[in-house]
Amino acid sequence: MKKMLKLALIAAAAVATFGASAQEFPVKDKTITIVVPYAAGGPTDRVARDLAEAIRKPLGGISVVVDNSAGAGSTIGSAKAARAAPDGYTLLLNHVSMATMPTMYRKLAFNVANDFEYLGIINDVPMTLIARPTMPANNYKELAAWLQQNKGKINLGNAGQGSASHLCGLMFQSAVQVDMTAVPYKGTAPAITDLIGGQIDLLCDQTTNTTSQIEGKKVKAYAVTTTKRLTTPALKDLPTLAESGVKDFSVTIWHGLYAPKGTPAPVLAKLNDALKVALKDPEFIKKQEGLGAVVATDKRIEPAEHKKFVLSETEKFGVAIKAAGSYAD
Ligand code: ASP
Repeated sequence: MKKMLKLALIAAAAVATFGASAQEFPVKDKTITIVVPYAAGGPTDRVARDLAEAIRKPLGGISVVVDNSAGAGSTIGSAKAARAAPDGYTLLLNHVSMATMPTMYRKLAFNVANDFEYLGIINDVPMTLIARPTMPANNYKELAAWLQQNKGKINLGNAGQGSASHLCGLMFQSAVQVDMTAVPYKGTAPAITDLIGGQIDLLCDQTTNTTSQIEGKKVKAYAVTTTKRLTTPALKDLPTLAESGVKDFSVTIWHGLYAPKGTPAPVLAKLNDALKVALKDPEFIKKQEGLGAVVATDKRIEPAEHKKFVLSETEKFGVAIKAAGSYAD
């Protein structure tokens, strides 16, 4: 009986301490770490670093750092964030791979639906089909002919199974009926370096990574993956894949912010409030728009709607992944 009472007192003390720390969140001399499951210098990293800058102000000026835990198509970093202490000081920023991993990976060390708290969608980002600078094709029509002539010899980069570039590549191969050799990287920052160096032929990547390379003519660009042309100055002359003859082709990806499951509700509320302020920050919006991204303003910035959206995207992309038979262990 005595032992029971002692246990009850310990539990009550723990609740009181945790409750108090949730009220105080964030403590100024602590640091919030945003885990990015892809390489530094790439598009997910770009969004995270811009967001870190914008979200620290509404969180009282706390320091916010990015931890690139890259590899295995974002499963390494996502697992790390899922296992982190649920105290609000470790978050995950990931993109559409939250919706591809559940179908693609036969074994996953975490459950996307149950092991995270959803904090809100950050942006929507179009993708671009780009090639090494030495690619002989100068427009999509010429590229389509080159693909047919080079069947069996084409290397297509990606950021690992389930990444946005992998998903876009799968959909493109199935649309043009040409199989390509997938070359995986820890993110599309190293992939684009190899593309510029001519080690790989093609890449489908977010405009947040490709805009400056297209502008600087470091790569050849053929099309955007959206249904409408973009208005971003550096990208506005690129046709859509659909208007180039790749019927019904459309891929837009998104980024979201997550906390480990069990993070206290008052902490989640403060993080969501801060995210909403960051998404209205003119500097953040300007940086994102300059790279072709559209900062979220719709209901998906609410946690419940964010989760609903990810689950519906999981179903949508699950169909394409199953059709391609693209699974990983
Ligand atoms: N853009 C990458 C992808 O294809 C990820 C990254 O490096 O941010 O998913």
